[in-house]
Amino acid sequence: MIDFHCHLDLYQDYKSVRMECDRLGMYVLSVTTTPTAWKGTSAIAEGSTRIRTALGLHPQLASERKGELPLFDALLPQAKDAGEIGLDGTPELRESWKDQVMVFEHILAECAKAGGRVLSIHSRRASAEVLNCLERVPRCGVPILHWFSGSVRELKRAIALGCWFSVGPSMLAARKGRGLVLQMPRDRVLTESDGPFARIDDIPVWPWQVKAALNELSNIWAVPPDEAQAVVNQNLRGLLSTQGLM
Ligand code: MN
Repeated sequence: MIDFHCHLDLYQDYKSVRMECDRLGMYVLSVTTTPTAWKGTSAIAEGSTRIRTALGLHPQLASERKGELPLFDALLPQAKDAGEIGLDGTPELRESWKDQVMVFEHILAECAKAGGRVLSIHSRRASAEVLNCLERVPRCGVPILHWFSGSVRELKRAIALGCWFSVGPSMLAARKGRGLVLQMPRDRVLTESDGPFARIDDIPVWPWQVKAALNELSNIWAVPPDEAQAVVNQNLRGLLSTQGLM
């Protein structure tokens, strides 16, 4: 199973979560929300070849943590992936919008300078502006829009720009999410949990609950669950090999 957007460091008992991921042979992209968190979060994955730690600066923290951008730049050569990064257009965050755009554009430009990265991107209520930013920095790497919730028109634009998508049980529990997935190229879809931020019945989602997302994918694609799993596995292999990351 693959959880390509998980906040491993935010689980209270992250050690046992990691052990369970290991036991299940899961492939995990462990995203971080600040550059200062990267070192400690990387330590959780020590010795694992299947848990990758992405270097991030979450849009919700852009104003508060923009002073950490020099640290981001300093750590980037060691990080194969960037995330969680992006923009959030919810009204409560309006005041930080300018900082969000500055931080996101800075990170995309640094990733381009560094030869490109796999990017796990947040785009809540900001799909159009995220795509504008990506369009301006075509060499930033492979953008993976996590929990995409834009319009069908924006989805088509994202596909044309070469974006990938990571989809989770919460997204697929909603009709809108399922409708979007139906229109995503099957060879650019990965699974994610977004745990422990994402919750189902008010309980934080565990990485292995990507299984529920796989079951939904199997329904949407009208293939057996093990075939849906094979598609997602093949996608990840392809992504990492074309990026020289495997
Ligand atoms: Mn997240």
